[in-house]
Amino acid sequence: MNQETFRKPLKQGIQIDARGRAKVSGLQHESVFGPVDSRRFGCSLGVNLIPPEKKVCTFDCPYCECGRTDLYLQEEGGWDSFDWPRIADIVGHVSQTLESLNRARNQIDTITFAGNGEPTLYPDLLPLIENLTRIRSEQFPTARLVILTNGTRLKHRSVRRALRLFDEVCIKLDAGTESMYRRINQPLPDFRFDALIESIVGYSKPVIQSMFVNGSIDNTIEEEVNHWIHLIDRASPKRLDIFSLDRSSPDPGLTEVPRSTLELIAQKVRDQTRINVCVY
Ligand code: SF4
Repeated sequence: MNQETFRKPLKQGIQIDARGRAKVSGLQHESVFGPVDSRRFGCSLGVNLIPPEKKVCTFDCPYCECGRTDLYLQEEGGWDSFDWPRIADIVGHVSQTLESLNRARNQIDTITFAGNGEPTLYPDLLPLIENLTRIRSEQFPTARLVILTNGTRLKHRSVRRALRLFDEVCIKLDAGTESMYRRINQPLPDFRFDALIESIVGYSKPVIQSMFVNGSIDNTIEEEVNHWIHLIDRASPKRLDIFSLDRSSPDPGLTEVPRSTLELIAQKVRDQTRINVCVY
């Protein structure tokens, strides 16, 4: 389903922040970007599987650093005719970039699949990651392969098979109730919250990542946090990463959650579960 949505323009590409850190902002124009300084992943080379100049996702999170979704895609597929980047082009671009980094003796910590939308929508994710795993081993064996996903495609066997080849799979879970989830992630109307939770709970030892925001949407209120902790406990992640806005957001009504509040939420999780929580 195509959907034209209001887009607050974001600065595009890679930006340097006040502390001199290179970080992602807006849409990427290439299938490889960076390296950028990631709060969580160190020096990270980004891989974007979505065509340039477009954001394609199953969600339209109002805080998304890529801006608003240009093309909402159904979780079930049916978009094979879409103009996806070719595997050979992506693999060639990653390989050339790793070669240049090696030549310049630059180190990277991770190769992170993120970019202009939801990476698991890429129809040939399995053969792509099989190729990139080999290239990583040959050219940059210390770099970890990481993917950030909203989890909506976990129910597909081929996607789960591809995800097993990553060193780290980070799945988004920003809310513990369906009503809050629909506000903070804005999925398509036929989205099924219960099905998503079952997929996440059934996935073995992911990293869960949760964005907290204040302002026009507030997922830090006590009741919401309690429901969210219940789901986090069920998912039993090997690590829970929580954070707030670090860049401008397409919804100007959203504000950053103070670090002290994030620390209180983290402590509450630690008090009620055995989960390793990191605040960024
Ligand atoms: S799931 Fe990720 S890519 Fe999609 S809208 Fe949300 S933050 Fe952006």
